[in-house]
Amino acid sequence: VSANDDLKALIRTIPDFPKPGIMFRDITTLLLDAEGFAACIERMAAAVNGPIDLVAGIEARGFLFAAALAAPLNAGVLLIRKDGKLPGATIAEDYALEYGTDRIAMHADACAPGARVLLVDDLIATGGTARAAVRLLRKAGAIVSQVQFVVDLPELGGADALREDGLEVTSLVA
Ligand code: 5GP
Repeated sequence: VSANDDLKALIRTIPDFPKPGIMFRDITTLLLDAEGFAACIERMAAAVNGPIDLVAGIEARGFLFAAALAAPLNAGVLLIRKDGKLPGATIAEDYALEYGTDRIAMHADACAPGARVLLVDDLIATGGTARAAVRLLRKAGAIVSQVQFVVDLPELGGADALREDGLEVTSLVA
């Protein structure tokens, strides 16, 4: 029995969302649980390797975990958003979807060159989103060595792809 089975029990699977055949891992039930959410943030904070300056969260659920980690890590929060949502000058990165492409963006001046950034999201599936976020942060001059997720779907290979890129990948629930 893994130490994170308690968290796993707080995440539910919704079949056929957002489209038929997809088994969506719904973390809203984990967020609703005071002890579960606190344990999640504690374990993520404990798994951080070395000092960091900023926690980068990926829109939208990644924001919740990045924001909660900021104070315990004594770090600021950097927002990675869908393109077109941030008000200032941005840099962007495209990534492939099953059909077509998507684009994420960050403020061009959000991090100083050499800033140590921890990337956080709620879930990694194919890794397309997280890998694009790492490329984007590196384009901005950030040093990214670790990426954290609440949930990993290992059969989709995303975490392995990030590891092949030389990143340390940690997740609480697989
Ligand atoms: P990937 O780019 O790794 O294929 O997909 C990960 C991104 O899509 C993350 O930003 C994540 O929030 C979202 N995502 C994909 N599938 C799921 C899912 O089953 N549950 C949740 N909560 N998010 C998902």
